[in-house]
Amino acid sequence: MTDTKNKTEELKKIKDEVLALTDSPLYEYRTANKYFPVIGEGNHDAKILFIGEAPGKNEALTAKPFCGAAGKVLDELLASIALDRKTVYVTNLVKDRPPENRDPEPAEIELYGPFLDQQISIIQPKVIATLGRHSMKYIFEHYGLSSVLDSISKIHGRAFTGKTSYGDVTVIALYHPAAALYNGSLRAVMKEDFKIIKNHI
Ligand code: URA
Repeated sequence: MTDTKNKTEELKKIKDEVLALTDSPLYEYRTANKYFPVIGEGNHDAKILFIGEAPGKNEALTAKPFCGAAGKVLDELLASIALDRKTVYVTNLVKDRPPENRDPEPAEIELYGPFLDQQISIIQPKVIATLGRHSMKYIFEHYGLSSVLDSISKIHGRAFTGKTSYGDVTVIALYHPAAALYNGSLRAVMKEDFKIIKNHI
């Protein structure tokens, strides 16, 4: 197994490659606004990997994933199952902020997805928890779960077995934490969904 030092070096390479991604349709927007790409943060040996959609403004200004209002909800959900953010790894499917928080476009997902794949094979988590429908779709389609892919309202909070280069992984689709900000009743559903993570680590 790759040791933590090598993992850190390999993850740093990904950061350097994304920083130099001048061909990205989001590169000009990044530089014009003095934004940073958001690569990911947390424990390089994490058993659980959380994957959001793309950085928002706070994230792009600080290079830290989920550091705004949605991040507060994520921290609350992690606390509800007694998980500290430092023990998990948090990243996004798309590493640069799309203008005005619009949904990532297919070409952007195609460009940034392979960086996420590399992060997964370096960290080798036991559980991949997607936060939102784009990261759900990407992971289900790329990790052997196309046949069970459905709308997030149908498959949230259920555990599936995905296939990776390093073996089986538990994949759990979760609502995006921001959903709790505009639909308060989802917060309780999300808390229930988070409980399942604990059963798989
Ligand atoms: N929403 C996301 O999907 N990712 C972040 O990092 C912040 C908000």
